[in-house]
Amino acid sequence: MDDYISISTLNDFIFCPYSIYLHNVYMESDETLYHATPQTQGRIAHEATDQKRSSNRTSDLQALPVISEEFGLMGKIDVYKGNEKKLIERKYQLKNIYQGQIYQLWAQYLCMTEMGYDVLSLAFYETSTNKMHPIPIPTEADIIRFRNFIHAYRNYDPVVPITVNPNKCRHCIYCSLCDKTEEENVYQ
Ligand code: SF4
Repeated sequence: MDDYISISTLNDFIFCPYSIYLHNVYMESDETLYHATPQTQGRIAHEATDQKRSSNRTSDLQALPVISEEFGLMGKIDVYKGNEKKLIERKYQLKNIYQGQIYQLWAQYLCMTEMGYDVLSLAFYETSTNKMHPIPIPTEADIIRFRNFIHAYRNYDPVVPITVNPNKCRHCIYCSLCDKTEEENVYQ
């Protein structure tokens, strides 16, 4: 399983690939060292699903572990509405929908379809506003782009210099632990 990429890290890789390296270095340590406010809100949004409180319908699947041999991905879905064949990812707040978040939803979709589930539609559900945001099913061209992204992720070398964006660093949960910046994390 070590070679499988965790779906939850795809958005972080786009935000800054070096953060994935730091995540792997510090994942065994005390998570209060780096967990900042947005991540905590995100985790609370997911806790309802992880504890299977978000829906009582028997046809719905929640927090289902998923895997793709083809893409080398593993993770968990939030909610699959069996009646509608709809895959939903809950977010606390969605001011913007980033490409990395869409990649995470695509990754869940690709895992589910490889596992034999029928998925007809995708959406983000914003818990703070109670709004559903539909996302198109990936096209053939989208899947080629996604495959290239996974290849880049898998072959990332943390030794290769990166372009450091101070604004990103200030909003990065690893800011205080990162050797690439002197910025202060805005959440501290
Ligand atoms: S602090 Fe900056 S350079 Fe370091 S991982 Fe975060 S975003 Fe990347």
